[in-house]
Amino acid sequence: MIKGIKASDGIAIGIAYVIKEEKIEVIKETSLEVSAVQAEMDGAIESGVKALDDLKKKTLETVGESEAEVFEAHKQLLMDPVMGGEIKTEIEKGVSSAYAFESVIDKYITMFQSLDNDYMRERALDLKDIKVRVLKILCGIDDSQAVLTDDAIIVTFDLTPSETVNLDREKTKGFVTEIGGETSHSAIIARTLNIPAVVGVGKEIASINQGDQLIIDGSEGVIYINPAVDIVDEYKRKKSDFEASQSLLEAYRDKASITLDGKEIEVAGNIASVEDVQAVLDASGDGIGLFRSEFLYMNRPSLPTEEEQFDAYKTVLEKMNPKPVTIRTMDIGGDKELDYLGLEKEMNPFLGYRAIRICLKDTELFKTQLRALLRASAYGRLRIMFPMIASLEEIIEAKEILKACHDDLISEGVEIHEYQVGIMIEVPAAAIMADVLAEEVDFFSIGTNDLIQYTTAVDRMNNTISDLYSPYHPAFLRLIKSVVEAGHVKGIEVGMCGNVAGYPEFIPYLLNIGLDELSMSPNMILKARSIVNNHSNESVDDILKLKTKKQVENKLKAE
Ligand code: PEP
Ligand code: MG
Repeated sequence: MIKGIKASDGIAIGIAYVIKEEKIEVIKETSLEVSAVQAEMDGAIESGVKALDDLKKKTLETVGESEAEVFEAHKQLLMDPVMGGEIKTEIEKGVSSAYAFESVIDKYITMFQSLDNDYMRERALDLKDIKVRVLKILCGIDDSQAVLTDDAIIVTFDLTPSETVNLDREKTKGFVTEIGGETSHSAIIARTLNIPAVVGVGKEIASINQGDQLIIDGSEGVIYINPAVDIVDEYKRKKSDFEASQSLLEAYRDKASITLDGKEIEVAGNIASVEDVQAVLDASGDGIGLFRSEFLYMNRPSLPTEEEQFDAYKTVLEKMNPKPVTIRTMDIGGDKELDYLGLEKEMNPFLGYRAIRICLKDTELFKTQLRALLRASAYGRLRIMFPMIASLEEIIEAKEILKACHDDLISEGVEIHEYQVGIMIEVPAAAIMADVLAEEVDFFSIGTNDLIQYTTAVDRMNNTISDLYSPYHPAFLRLIKSVVEAGHVKGIEVGMCGNVAGYPEFIPYLLNIGLDELSMSPNMILKARSIVNNHSNESVDDILKLKTKKQVENKLKAE
């Protein structure tokens, strides 16, 4: 058994289809005139652009808009005039078109790979994809789709975006990649297509050979190679249990989320882009409890304009209306870098210049976002949420800036509808002061991802200590209970939008302490609703007496 990173839930049992990185033999010499070589190059780029247009169209029809944008980005890279000029200079030295193209694109790949920035490293993968595409054209290699056996599990270094789209959906039951993480293209596409996937397996992937029988468990991140019969039987059972439980959940689609005691709970979805709204609607989510707006600021060269942001917020609000949409003001910093802001490298980015701290210093940036949000309020039920709040002063300051934007817009004659203002409770200082902060806002949403790391002093990104990063810490259980109580005493709603809100074993505790809203990744919504609708409140006295993480975990999992 080998392990990787779980990228997309579910179990696949099938036959390995190993895609080896092809070595394309490039010959430097050419007998052609410079002008003929340049014409050959221009023709190859034109064919490449056409192929990318076709792929974009196909992806748009079969996968989605944001995935299709990958090919638009490839096209822009391929048509880049600076790169084109460098290729021309190489060709003028009397070399073949393939050689000129390879030497220029390799230079860019090496440069992108060496940057200390995940986004640029991802772009290096895009360039590799483009390189293979164009070299195949220049070297006359047939690029037709590979033939797969039924029940194929693709095993590859990294499934490039174009390979992903060219997959035969009927036959591909899962995939395994050597590199990549939870946010790589392949992982995102796997989740969108609902194909189990394990990524980032590392060098051990070499132990998988063409035609091996494989079991991959995308929920656990494990792969079995030529497993014994009893393991196959066990996973066949697990697979059918998984499928049966998925189809049982269908009964909860379009149902109200209401406990057996009659309390209505908002079971909402988290999104990071306009396109993600569809997944929340498909799962019949009761609203959006977290729109991570900072993703509008990423993967681009400069800040999004007020108009761009307005369009995004308006679309999300309109699509969800009359269901509520919580849009969090941008949370850049920590693990989410933004090169064009020119922020300095910090020793402790999670304790540094991040989220509301940036907004309160760079008020122009903040105002642009707030104006876009307020203008969008006319199109649905908007809740504005400030992240990383650690003190009352920050709320007051943020609300003053919001009021100034509000007044400006009114004097410009812009229509603004009713909206709510809330904060994330993700810093222990805010959790402890919740009774005071509750007087200033309409709602709280507990951000467990950060609240756990700050409460237990465990960096959420550090693999070495990931075993210490635990939602089962008794301190965390006590802290979130006190936040809910403080909010309720002051009459405001308390929700949760961190990952814990979607942990099935945790949901009964969250309901017992009185949470009003749970917001999670859209694929967990039906499961969460099934738990809510079968829940009746119980005392939490026993669990709060437990002293260790293990005791808490065992108790939550036993119930
Ligand atoms: C959280 O901290 O729980 C949260 C939802 O925010 P993020 O994961 O974006 O920091
Ligand atoms: Mg957070």
